[in-house]
Amino acid sequence: MVFTLAIVGRPNVGKSTLFNRLVGKKLALVDDTPGVTRDRRGGEGRIADLEFLLIDTAGLEEGDVGSLSERMKAQTAQALKEADIALMLYDARAGVTPMDEHFAAWLRRTETPVILAANKCEGKIASVGFYEAYALGLGEPVALSAEHGDGLADLYQVLVETL
Ligand code: GDP
Ligand code: MG
Repeated sequence: MVFTLAIVGRPNVGKSTLFNRLVGKKLALVDDTPGVTRDRRGGEGRIADLEFLLIDTAGLEEGDVGSLSERMKAQTAQALKEADIALMLYDARAGVTPMDEHFAAWLRRTETPVILAANKCEGKIASVGFYEAYALGLGEPVALSAEHGDGLADLYQVLVETL
């Protein structure tokens, strides 16, 4: 079964790094519609024999801070519409931030199944931030390191269980 996975979360948690790792190469922007979809990227991702369409959400660096959360929501909402599963990343080194909580509260109300993943989990430094994630109310996080490629077998397992 081919399914669509959207990587969501606040800026800087490693969404694009994970996208690049799962797609295996850097892709050009595919959707240059002005507005919320401006920097959304799509690609064909794979973990072992599991193949899926992948959406990376981005493009939140521009604009004034006041509009950030609305734009983030609009962009994420669009990705969720197209996705069978959402993968919410947070930065386990930074720990859970108010913006992560805001995101999680909103994702808990969507009908799309959400998998929570703690990124930047290489090394022991991240362990405190890993356990903080239970407060997000999205279940047990999958520990990942997008940069090092750790945790992909666990992600595979959770994806198969969620489908
Ligand atoms: P995005 O804004 O969520 O798309 O985040 P990026 O993929 O652009 O990554 C933001 C920063 O986090 C970059 O400096 C990455 O190199 C770094 N980063 C991404 N994944 C990891 C990881 O697994 N471990 C560590 N230590 N840094 C990471
Ligand atoms: Mg990005």
